[in-house]
Amino acid sequence: MVSARGLVKSFGGHRVLHGVDLDVAPGETVCVIGPSGSGKSTLLRCLNRLETPDAGLCVIDGVPLGYAARNGALVEVGAAELAAQRAAVGMVFQGFNLFAHMTVRQNLVEAPRSVLGLSRREADERAGDLLARVGLADKMEAYPETLSGGQQQRVAIARALAMRPKVMLFDEPTSALDPEMVDEVLTVMRDLAAEGMTMILVTHEMGFARDVADRIVLMDHGAVLEQSSPRQFFARPATQRGRTFLEKVL
Ligand code: ADP
Ligand code: MG
Repeated sequence: MVSARGLVKSFGGHRVLHGVDLDVAPGETVCVIGPSGSGKSTLLRCLNRLETPDAGLCVIDGVPLGYAARNGALVEVGAAELAAQRAAVGMVFQGFNLFAHMTVRQNLVEAPRSVLGLSRREADERAGDLLARVGLADKMEAYPETLSGGQQQRVAIARALAMRPKVMLFDEPTSALDPEMVDEVLTVMRDLAAEGMTMILVTHEMGFARDVADRIVLMDHGAVLEQSSPRQFFARPATQRGRTFLEKVL
């Protein structure tokens, strides 16, 4: 479902991704872990093209993000086609990033209407279904500021799902939450994984990673250091840096 090859990204003179490869199978949940500054967020942002990699390619379900095949060659696509391609990759951020001046319903229907061309009725219906699924059916007309952090993050997940993405990316989705709100968000994510959504998740929630991930990817200094099953990784990381990282976070 996701195939990233040779992703390189620099900011100024500072190289943040050193040619990262990552493959994720349909329905797989991959947890990306690693020290702060190791390039985890930049990797996710390249996977949905919030950042344009300097080199390398991300292919989502056969579609090379940012490109189209024309006469046997890859050519860059325009803004509208890129927006349509990016709809396949949902993203949820640490800071919720809801539109503050819009109601929950408006947050959920905006992109499905403008990017996917859904009618008001279709978009409203989809929004209602998704809000029910994240346990917030009664918050349709609420403004984000009236919701708790956990509720806002569940709305953000529903908003991403409203595009019917093929992959969901989560960048530390519970790191900004008060501790008592972490579980309600993890529960929604756990359900999504169980329903077969393909997910890539950056998290410090090691318990969740151990229980829910199909694979752990450890990053350091802009590279993937090791990848293994949670059982293997948490029992005995293959690398010294993996062991050091685990000692710090567990
Ligand atoms: P992580 O998510 O693992 O903490 P990031 O991908 O956020 O790591 O950052 C990796 C490195 O890239 C850090 O040194 C960070 O300061 C730098 N970086 C990330 N985004 C930018 C940006 N937009 N401009 C300049 N430097 C950036
Ligand atoms: Mg980050």
